[in-house]
Amino acid sequence: MEMDKMDENDWKYHGEGNKSLVVSHLQHCRVLRLLKFPSEDSAHTRQTAEQAFRHIPNIVDYSKYVMKPLLGEKYIHSGEVVKLPLDFVRQLSLKVQQERPELRCDKVMDTFSGCGLCLPNLTQLPLHHLRDHRPPICVEIKPKCGFLPFSRHISKECKRKVCRFCMHQHYKLANGKWKRLSRYCPLDLFSGSKQRMYVALKNLLEEPQNNLKIFKGGELIFSCKDDAKQQPDLNDLIQHLRPYFPHSNGLYNSHQPGKVVLNELIRVICSALLSGGDSNRSGEPRKVHLSESRPHCEASPFPRDLLRNGNHSLPKDSVLAKILQVQMMDNLDIEGIYPLYKRVEQYLEEFPRERNRLQIDGPYDESFMDTVKNCPTEDDGSVEYAVGKVHQYRVAMTAKDCSIMITFAPCEEDEELQLNLEKPRFTYSVSILDLDPKPYEGIPHQYKLDTKIANYYLRSTQAPP
Ligand code: ATP
Ligand code: ZN
Ligand code: MG
Ligand code: MG
Repeated sequence: MEMDKMDENDWKYHGEGNKSLVVSHLQHCRVLRLLKFPSEDSAHTRQTAEQAFRHIPNIVDYSKYVMKPLLGEKYIHSGEVVKLPLDFVRQLSLKVQQERPELRCDKVMDTFSGCGLCLPNLTQLPLHHLRDHRPPICVEIKPKCGFLPFSRHISKECKRKVCRFCMHQHYKLANGKWKRLSRYCPLDLFSGSKQRMYVALKNLLEEPQNNLKIFKGGELIFSCKDDAKQQPDLNDLIQHLRPYFPHSNGLYNSHQPGKVVLNELIRVICSALLSGGDSNRSGEPRKVHLSESRPHCEASPFPRDLLRNGNHSLPKDSVLAKILQVQMMDNLDIEGIYPLYKRVEQYLEEFPRERNRLQIDGPYDESFMDTVKNCPTEDDGSVEYAVGKVHQYRVAMTAKDCSIMITFAPCEEDEELQLNLEKPRFTYSVSILDLDPKPYEGIPHQYKLDTKIANYYLRSTQAPP
């Protein structure tokens, strides 16, 4: 792509999160990811431009040197920093404005730095031959934290029994963030048990919030509605999916043929989540047991009597195992991290110049990664230990906030001998995205939020009437 010939008419609005806005190219399988700022900040244009200047390269480095070695090469696309003409960015910002959901408009797109991130469009399959009339389906899942904290620093017993996501739901409902509770529980998704994963995915389909999006041919076809009161339309989704599962139309003598289609979708998602990342591998993968902690969340709707012991393992190279392993680098919990953060702060107050050597704000290079990997397991009272644990905590936070993209398309009919004609075959690819560094300064906020969420959960569920 030639950056000096950028034309806003080649790009269209694709989506956004809390930190960035994404546009996709009309012809090429590419997206541009641009930062966003709170709209009141946009008055300080110079400052925000400088922030973006530093932040975009930091994002790429963090993905390349920190997250990629931890999560595995095959899942990560770090992208590249691109310098964009300011005129192009301004025109683009005007163009996408009317497409943006209202709930995201508290922030504005960065039009000052001329800095962006160019990535492959993961909702498409670049090698998918255009001979099939059915475009790729992409399922984006933001799984959130998949384990119960096991740190000895935890002060509230409920945190050992109910997962963070399920507790947070009550708090978000009370604060008006969502109108209905989600019944999704990350521990079910990360369980490795097909039954529990099925329940988790079914609950995501019923209440996607910001944890599930589905694209067809790069277009968003299923997500939470802007108007939080409105439920997403599963019937619509079923209509979109029918051509991908033609056998489900007549094969089953079902009262709810739509349900069969959704079950088939869930089956494809599960096998992608448990596979080694692409469909060209076979063989029974090695399993890992990651459950040092209690593997079940008491708030999950999964029936307790169906839980069997020894059933919680994930194939070693699966995307879920990789993400969970990195999430579990948070082994002290925020309650154990906060005092270490204060130790670092105290040290920096005395020796402000040490901030650079300790790489508090990056650079996120191999040396940062060494600190993450070689942090001692026992606290020797040093600032090095504290910094190492804080770095590890931030890495784990990134893994708790990332998204998984599963993109699949029907195999070409004549590609291989299809022995099982009842089940359609798909080629698919699995990636992980949104691997931004979480700010060091965010730790006091995380500490307060954690207390609020646990307290609110206790009050709302255990208080006498
Ligand atoms: P969050 O609020 O979850 O932290 P964010 O602001 O960091 O989000 P992203 O999650 O990176 O932003 O991007 C926002 C959305 O844009 C994603 O949820 C996804 O739907 C889409 N998106 C991002 N990167 C890509 C990509 N490489 N290919 C296709 N779609 C993408
Ligand atoms: Zn839960
Ligand atoms: Mg995101
Ligand atoms: Mg993000």
